Amino acid sequence: MNNYALVLNAGSSSLKFCLFERPAGEGWRLAARGQIEGIGTSPRLSVKDAGGECLANQDVSVRDGHEAVEALAAWLRSRYGGSSVLGIGHRVVHGGSRFVGPTILNDQVLAELRELVPLAPLHQPYNLAAIEAAFKRLPGVPQVACFDTSFHRGQPAVAELIPLPRDLRYAGLQRYGFHGLSYEYIASVLPQVSPRIARSRVIVAHLGSGASLCALKDGRSVDSTLGFTALDGLCMGTRPGALDPGVVLHLFQGLKLSVAEVENLLYKKSGLLGISGISNDMRDLLGRTEPEARLAVDYFVYRAAKEIGALAAVLGGIDGLVFTAGIGENSPEIRQQICRACGWLGLELDESANLNHGPEISTSRSKVSAWVIPTNEELMIARHTGLLLGLAKAA
Ligand code: ADP
Repeated sequence: MNNYALVLNAGSSSLKFCLFERPAGEGWRLAARGQIEGIGTSPRLSVKDAGGECLANQDVSVRDGHEAVEALAAWLRSRYGGSSVLGIGHRVVHGGSRFVGPTILNDQVLAELRELVPLAPLHQPYNLAAIEAAFKRLPGVPQVACFDTSFHRGQPAVAELIPLPRDLRYAGLQRYGFHGLSYEYIASVLPQVSPRIARSRVIVAHLGSGASLCALKDGRSVDSTLGFTALDGLCMGTRPGALDPGVVLHLFQGLKLSVAEVENLLYKKSGLLGISGISNDMRDLLGRTEPEARLAVDYFVYRAAKEIGALAAVLGGIDGLVFTAGIGENSPEIRQQICRACGWLGLELDESANLNHGPEISTSRSKVSAWVIPTNEELMIARHTGLLLGLAKAA
């Protein structure tokens, strides 16, 4: 009989999950990875084991996030009958200023996390629904929330500051930063991947549907491009990134849009999708010839390069640049364009290493080394969950 840690990452239309096991004397090891996709349309459960063998690929009857957790619990029981889930780790996007590290979940914590829903409307409600459902469907299993914001706590006061009247600041208006589990994972593996940059000045580019940069000094976050909400900084799949706040005023006052319309515009209709009018998906856009698709890609690169310059200034120069997440790990073209724009920093791209996805993609002459490192937010969550619940020593 095996014992597992279950990691859940619940979104608006999907429930992604990983099952980790811990062989005696070893760290957490992936046993299975899967998802229920198409929640609300045509839901389907697919699961693969660590070697990529299919364990399940079937339609499921699921109408919402609660039922998705129920379907997953039923599948786990049928597949791993005699085994037990020792703990559940959840990805929770926003921990506000109160939750500075992984936290064991209970009713009180859940109530506090609900108050943060307006700050992350795209993710937080679904994260919390999965927690509530897991309390019901997997009763007695302890649950841990791991936050995308925690890794950034401890940044210098000026990096967290939003320069509005201080009463608002005291009420929690500050820059939080996101993608923290991804950055924490990258910081945890850098000493093995590149000991020479791990303890110095590194910018990590997490480029996926959501995208941000993090400035690391000695493995700690000193600044990042996402702020109070996940709307700031880089251009994203459907989010614009940094905007002149006067634009938002104009949407309300000049165009008379409602709060719901503006929220929808900012979270779901802008960014790559808004610029191109074609797609929010970088792979799609790279395959298209329309000028609008080209403009969206160009803006994505322009913005990333510009923000790398800003974080390089914060760090007083950089020693390493790391690409991760869907676009960062898989697109040599985007990496090439961003690295070329960083030539002034002393970065020289090794074109063939880049085509082969590295891991090191800079030449031996390059003053700044560049890397492709696949992120693993789920393993980070399993490690935190295991440590906090006393299930295991860190993997
Ligand atoms: P998230 O987890 O935030 O949903 P991902 O990290 O999975 O996002 O990244 C999704 C993005 O990665 C999409 O824009 C997708 O097109 C892009 N992507 C994945 N593979 C490639 C590729 N080979 N070339 C370019 N973009 C890619």
